Amino acid sequence: MNDSIENLKKTLKLAEPALSAVVPVMNEEENIPLVFKELTSAIEGEGLSYEIIFVDDGSTDDSFKEMMKLKEVSPAVKIVRFRSNKGKTAALSAGFRAARGELVVTIDADLQESPQEIGKMIKEMEKGFDLVSAWRYNRQDSPTKNLVSKVFNRFVRMITGDTIHDINCGFKLYKKEVVKNLNLYGELHRVIPTLASASGFRVGEVQVEHQPRKFGHTKFSGFLRGFHGIFDLFSVLFLSRFGNRPLHFFGMAGFIVFAFGFAIALFLALRYFLGFGFIGERMPLFLLGILSMVLGFQSLSIGLVGEMLVKKILTPSNKYDEEFYS
Ligand code: UDP
Ligand code: MG
Repeated sequence: MNDSIENLKKTLKLAEPALSAVVPVMNEEENIPLVFKELTSAIEGEGLSYEIIFVDDGSTDDSFKEMMKLKEVSPAVKIVRFRSNKGKTAALSAGFRAARGELVVTIDADLQESPQEIGKMIKEMEKGFDLVSAWRYNRQDSPTKNLVSKVFNRFVRMITGDTIHDINCGFKLYKKEVVKNLNLYGELHRVIPTLASASGFRVGEVQVEHQPRKFGHTKFSGFLRGFHGIFDLFSVLFLSRFGNRPLHFFGMAGFIVFAFGFAIALFLALRYFLGFGFIGERMPLFLLGILSMVLGFQSLSIGLVGEMLVKKILTPSNKYDEEFYS
């Protein structure tokens, strides 16, 4: 009897859940039981099988203990634990690796967004999206944070042509293939929708309510955050457009700058040989010409080195260059 129950438990455990919830956690001890309760009731309300993956991002409070308590009572709870704080991007990435569901939802542990809105996100996804991002239209954070976020989002829309209003909201619903394809590093969690649409996935959004934090405090504050985000965005744009062909970027820029410098040098040389004056009389122009040629050449070389890296010919096997006697 007991044996068969054990077997049943095993099969249940092995069966893949329909939905994986990934919750990044850094010092959220009071929030963990609450987010667990709300998540389970919301997902069960949708009638889906599920797993809840807590990623403990090096918490120094009792977050891990709280997770373990939940794991005792629910087989749906999984835990990934980092020994030290690696950041939200790394936490999400680890959660994505562990996730087995066809759908994956990420949500912050602080319950600023309510899991009850998962149903709305699933409905939106059914319209044909691969990723649905929540939009905190009545955002309840500090005025500085709201401002930085507004400016950042406007900027993103401007340079990417995306239509998402709240790119960096932690509450998102993904199809499995999106999370398995995302290559997250650095602080790229802030620009996931841009990354996903650059890979060809369809990205939608739904408005959700937003609450102030009840317990704990924010881990992201300060004005400089916005600048970090802008650099992340540049790297995404660069990698998605030119990551496979760096020469097209550096080479083109380098060629134009070099040609400009060359034209100046040619002009000065002709001017001298035709007897219109010495090169030294046009010192600033001469310097500009030389500088442009050097810079242009440098940029071209960077492009070529980039191509080598992309094609990995820096470590050639040189198969046809060697003779082998045995
Ligand atoms: N978080 C994390 N690692 C970090 C910083 C934050 O896992 O280095 C988690 C945090 O515990 C929370 C979520 O990421 O669940 C969002 O953090 P927070 O609420 O501080 O961000 P905010 O809502 O203030 O932007
Ligand atoms: Mg928060």
